[in-house]
Amino acid sequence: MADPETFRTELRAWLEQHAPASLAGSGGGELEGIWGGRKAVWSNPDAKRWLDACAERGFTAPEWPRPYGGGGLSREEAKVLRQELAQRRMPPPLIGFGLTMIGPVLLQFGTEAQKREHLPKICRGEIRWCQGYSEPGAGSDLAGLQTRAVLVTGGPEGDHYLVNGQKVWTSYADQADWMFCLVRTDPEARKQEGITFLLFDMESPGVSVKPIALISGSSPFCETFLSDVRVPVANVVGKVNGGWTVAKALLAHERTMIADAFGGASGGGRTRGLAARAREAVGVAADGALADASLRHRIAQAEMDTRAFVLTTQRARDAARAGHAPGPESSMFKIYGTELNQRRMELQVSIAGPQALGWEGPGFDEAELDLTRQWLRSRGNTIEGGTSEIQLNIIAKRVLGLPD
Ligand SMILES: Cc1cc2nc3c(=O)[nH]c(=O)nc-3n(C[C@H](O)[C@H](O)[C@H](O)COP(=O)(O)OP(=O)(O)OC[C@H]3O[C@@H](n4cnc5c(N)ncnc54)[C@H](O)[C@@H]3O)c2cc1C
Repeated sequence: MADPETFRTELRAWLEQHAPASLAGSGGGELEGIWGGRKAVWSNPDAKRWLDACAERGFTAPEWPRPYGGGGLSREEAKVLRQELAQRRMPPPLIGFGLTMIGPVLLQFGTEAQKREHLPKICRGEIRWCQGYSEPGAGSDLAGLQTRAVLVTGGPEGDHYLVNGQKVWTSYADQADWMFCLVRTDPEARKQEGITFLLFDMESPGVSVKPIALISGSSPFCETFLSDVRVPVANVVGKVNGGWTVAKALLAHERTMIADAFGGASGGGRTRGLAARAREAVGVAADGALADASLRHRIAQAEMDTRAFVLTTQRARDAARAGHAPGPESSMFKIYGTELNQRRMELQVSIAGPQALGWEGPGFDEAELDLTRQWLRSRGNTIEGGTSEIQLNIIAKRVLGLPD
């Protein structure tokens, strides 16, 4: 391993050359960022250049092994990379479910062939993934899922599964290239024991996707219908009927990712500018303090809570990098991060007053309209990846050891 400070010096020179100035300060929000994929639209060509340059150095997945497209960086080097990107306010070169969910799961459970096939494409941002877990009758009770996969052996197409069913709330299914999906392969077994984890291309015949409009005005959600979709047996991750173990590991990564979005480097920026905006809105008293004492208190509290949470999640992340896969603490972080974010959004809306209630038409600028939508979107954070009530159940059972 190179000395982290030598690495920092080399990295600064590299960033000088490759980090486009046009991206600095952008891409911090959850709905922004570079997702990649076959359907990516590059409104700013610098974003594509930034992705390609980082992918070539393995910086999209800094700590993944080099043979799979990662950077092979040590924990210390990866930390230096995060620090340098944050200092320049550069967005991550790539975000998405490939890097944060299915990638780590393939590293843990995938066959060598699956790792070599999928991980480099994830690192280069070539393939965008979506998550086919929830169904109309299976949300919190995920193990109750009904999508069936029936094994068909022999024949010219080789052994494959024929998948039929419906998924719902599939975020970005209309923009994704591949899905990781839970299917029932043994309807007779106890419900958790008859589930298999499958991967398939969204362009496979029989896959159709219908967007669902949201309260926020956007429509990242979809219903996904699967009708006689053929999936090669080589696309099973883990054991047949052993998908529940893989599914739970992925959920821990998902909850960590959601918590990270509110407690990581980007979360740390979420109170930036609040005090200045509040000063503009309510003015300052004779002693220079914010005129509204209760608002001053709320801003200080949000700032302190955010900083404490950033430090706590960083500590947990360091432990995770030392080889501890995220456990039930991911549930604690998910609850705290998402509720903290809702409080911050409420605060921003209070400061903006009626200007935070815009929808369309004149009288509101882009930033104000964006605030309204982000505030509405923050409601979904305590539902996606498992609701807060479900996280509390997990904490009660697995952290506190309380009986059912
Ligand atoms: C923004 C967003 C993005 C999402 N993206 C995806 C995606 O990409 N892919 C995907 O597969 N799914 C996705 N989902 C779906 C999400 O995982 C489910 O909405 C979630 O698991 C809750 O399931 P449900 O909606 O069926 O609610 P239900 O399970 O019907 O729950 C309704 C209410 O009952 C409570 N409840 C249920 N069971 C219990 C219990 N045992 N104890 C206490 N309370 C209980 C819940 O907490 C909730 O308040 C997304 C959801 C959101 C909001």
